[in-house]
Order: sequence, then C-alpha cells, then structure tokens
Amino acid sequence: MSPSPWYHDGLRFECQRSGHCCTGEPGTVRLTAAEVRALAARLGLKREAFTAMYTRRLPSGAISLRERPNHDCVFFDAALGCEVYMQRPRQCRTWPFWRALVHSPKHWEEAARTCPGINRGPLHAAESIRRTSEEDGTSGELPDD
Ligand code: SF4
Repeated sequence: MSPSPWYHDGLRFECQRSGHCCTGEPGTVRLTAAEVRALAARLGLKREAFTAMYTRRLPSGAISLRERPNHDCVFFDAALGCEVYMQRPRQCRTWPFWRALVHSPKHWEEAARTCPGINRGPLHAAESIRRTSEEDGTSGELPDD
C-alpha cells in the first residue's frame, strides 16, 4: 500500500478566473490528438489548418498550443478569459492538481503565490487529487526540489 500523501486531508481550490494560469511565464499547453480534433471542430477548421495556426511542436514531439509574443496562451482574451473554455485541454482542466504541483507542499505553495484560487473554495479529497494528478495532461515531469 502506498504511503499517505502530504495532502491526505485534501486541498482547497476554486478557480477565480484570474487568468494567471493562461498568461505570464513561457509554458506549454499539451494537446492530445482528440483535443486537436475537438478544438479544430470548435473553430470550424480542418485539423491541418488548426495545427498550423494554433499549435507548435515541442522538442519531445508533443503538440502544444502556441503563445502570443507576451507568452499569453493564444486562446486567452483579457476581457473574456479562455475563448475555448468548453473545449479547453485536459492540462487546463486539471490545474492545479498537476503532479508537479502536488509533489510537495513547497511546490503547491509556490503555485499559490500566483494563483488566487489555490487554498480557497471547496475541499478536494486526497484520492480525487491523486487520480487527477496521475493523468493531468502535462508531461508529468517532476520539478527539481
Ligand atoms: S486553452 Fe484556455 S484555459 Fe487553457 S491556457 Fe489557453 S486560455 Fe487558458
């Protein structure tokens, strides 16, 4: 049996629509093939056109959404928020219960400094957090301690 995680009593999170996880530092938003198809359909584009306009290939071979020159996500609108919210990728849906963030209290609290939704709102159960973090849509790489 695996040991109890540090967040065994659960963690609080409620999105405040700050947009901080869609802007700021350079980053990646990975897309599965199914997510590419869903977003292309949402925008009325063929998959190839969507891929050329809105995505970039990472050195690993994975596909990521493009960023604007200021590093905002290509789908982030300052007034409206996410322009594809209902079709947003899994990586966006699982924030902040990413493996890299729930790895330790230190990484969780670091994320809380820029995300106003962390540590407020409803309590999410440890088991649900664990399951989400195991399929968070990110690369799954753990940060250096
Ligand atoms: S797809 Fe939407 S939710 Fe995800 S980073 Fe871009 S703007 Fe934010």
